[in-house]
Amino acid sequence: MNLYNTLTNQLEEFKPLNPPEVLMYNCGPTVYNFAHIGNLSSYLMADLLRRYMEYKGFKVKQVMNITDVGHLVSDSDTGEDKMEKAAREQQLDPLDVARKYEETFHTDRKKLNILDAHHYPRATEMISEQLDTVKKLMGKGFAYETSDGYYFDVQQFPEYGKLSNNKLDDLKAGERVDVNTEKKHPADFALWKKCVGENKNHILRWSFETGEKMTGTEENGSVGFPGWHIECSAMASSLLGKTIDIHTGGEDNIFPHHDCEIAQSRAITGEDIFAKYWVHKRHIFVDGEKMSKSKGNFFTMTDIEEKGYSPLAYRYLILSIHYRQNTNFTFKGLDDAVKNIERLQNFLVATQNASDNGPEVAIQKFREDFETSLDDDLNTSGALGAVFELVKEGNKALAESGGIKNRLDVLNFLRDFDQIFAVLSWDLEEELDPQVEIWMKKRDQARAEKDFEKADEIRDKLKEEGIEIMDKDGKTVWKKSS
Ligand SMILES: [Zn+2]
Repeated sequence: MNLYNTLTNQLEEFKPLNPPEVLMYNCGPTVYNFAHIGNLSSYLMADLLRRYMEYKGFKVKQVMNITDVGHLVSDSDTGEDKMEKAAREQQLDPLDVARKYEETFHTDRKKLNILDAHHYPRATEMISEQLDTVKKLMGKGFAYETSDGYYFDVQQFPEYGKLSNNKLDDLKAGERVDVNTEKKHPADFALWKKCVGENKNHILRWSFETGEKMTGTEENGSVGFPGWHIECSAMASSLLGKTIDIHTGGEDNIFPHHDCEIAQSRAITGEDIFAKYWVHKRHIFVDGEKMSKSKGNFFTMTDIEEKGYSPLAYRYLILSIHYRQNTNFTFKGLDDAVKNIERLQNFLVATQNASDNGPEVAIQKFREDFETSLDDDLNTSGALGAVFELVKEGNKALAESGGIKNRLDVLNFLRDFDQIFAVLSWDLEEELDPQVEIWMKKRDQARAEKDFEKADEIRDKLKEEGIEIMDKDGKTVWKKSS
């Protein structure tokens, strides 16, 4: 499998450090507002990557951070903390704001069939790990203290900027006049900010010495809060290890965020790499323009649902376009996604209900084309092309003879396809056979009367007839067993 590595600017064969294990870190949401569809598209890409790796037999361990403190409005370590700004505007406690939007993030991602990561560490719950990292960097001479915080000394790490193809000298020349005259280089970035000056009233604050949570809002240089970049280095190393296989994010994370992470992590470990592969999702445009609140072209999952679309139509739309292509989001695109999902769903249902008498379809070829495409840097449009070729051939067979000889192979392939794309529904309630319905009602009644023996008997009887029944959300659903 080949992946495009932002670090080397080329396609590389994917070889994990310790196969079959794959350690993956995804930069997650800053929970000060609803995630917009651009943010969500980066998590969809990470989900696709994980699902395809699992299809290929890798054992993926996935961590996605939740930034609930320390992400300043400006990337150059100035301005207000995004959380605290939102809290002030909504007259809420910063942590209440964080929990509220963290919850909506999880609701959105579940609607999008994004699998649970193995950990969702919160920045506020890993303060001591972050302070350890800052102190280690101080001890190794990679960081220094100023009157308003602790900064990474980029000149001690000559490769700083490699990921974004920035040279230190260019960064110096490109930087506007910095208000912080104590910094040794304009690109030096904050590891820890003290509660002084413009940050003196910062509500979320911890003792630099002990990591203990502090209260009060008065100026105090011995308490402070972490810079934005430090959490990812601290979390990746404590939850995954010194070096990891894959690190993902949106393309706007490349600089400065990911260059800063690399500098921090490698300065501490002394290793040549922090993450072996850096994978970035390109931007989303709306009607040809970059999303922004002022233009009113800023969409959330709720906006999409309110217009009557299923979140899975959005999932399909994003997955149908290669992640390294700019996506132009339009409602016409969502309409097409809806139609394509319907076409796949109809074929699935028809195949489930078809007989085994009919022509054989070239399933092996379709599967190979599907895999070859995804192996080519997750070429999802190519993979979908293979699936639709199958649908075309399969529908032809069904129209001609009402059956497909290798129907079960087709169903197995569709199941594998959907383990990765996750846009189909496998419940067939609407197709219920009246006789099956009677038995299911009898079973529900038996369960209501706590006669579980009888309920199980009915379940086994239906199983013999090729009907598998399951209890889902308090209700009985069924499918043909394949
Ligand atoms: Zn990050």
